Amino acid sequence: MCLSERQDKPFIITIDGPAGAGKSTLAKKLAAHVGAIYLDTGSMYRAATLKIVEERVDIHDEQAVHQALCSTEIQFVKYDEILMDNRNVESLIRSRAIDKTVSLISSYSDVRKKMVGLQRDFARTHKTVVEGRDVGSVVFPKADVKFFLTADLNERAARRQKELKEKGVEAVYEDIRKEIRERDRLDESREHSPLKVPDGAFVVDTTHLGIEDVLKALTGKTIEVLNL
Ligand code: C5P
Repeated sequence: MCLSERQDKPFIITIDGPAGAGKSTLAKKLAAHVGAIYLDTGSMYRAATLKIVEERVDIHDEQAVHQALCSTEIQFVKYDEILMDNRNVESLIRSRAIDKTVSLISSYSDVRKKMVGLQRDFARTHKTVVEGRDVGSVVFPKADVKFFLTADLNERAARRQKELKEKGVEAVYEDIRKEIRERDRLDESREHSPLKVPDGAFVVDTTHLGIEDVLKALTGKTIEVLNL
């Protein structure tokens, strides 16, 4: 019997952590393993940021950003399908231009309110593995299982450089490292829903671990806690 058939009740597993800690890869794999749907909350903040960039809204004008997003529809359908006003923008939201702007846009409280509402609606009726910065601390504080993945900054920068290279984008390691460090700083120090280890989360440092080792650890803990 598949794991998914043994537990019919909806459940929520959260994975938080900084950029490059391996959250997306692990969340996708864990979701497939336990028969859950994967929700990438970062892609929603990225789609909102794309709207602001495309409309040339002043990114420092919080009110103007809020106004622009009021009439914008963001819908996470599935991995590789994030809709912004009914357009799949997945191929546009992982650029370095979005990387550099997304943390500022995500720091605005009205932006967060809108995204959190959408995320809670999505998870209401599904078994969900959700990944982000505040999903175990703020969006789903009562999640069934919470993880926090982290890794050394140098390792995270190297992973991001490799990922870009695989997409045909050449980038200088030092520049990427600086950008990630700045994103960490903004995400950890913002007033609303800063990045932190959620209460009750299992912390895994992935610096020296392969994907399969981390997956094994997360799956083992999930099966134990959910009694699958
Ligand atoms: O996970 P990803 O790197 O795609 O996230 C992009 C950015 O979106 C983060 O650096 C953070 O500023 C923002 N974010 C957030 N809260 C989340 C998910 C992402 O503020 N739950």
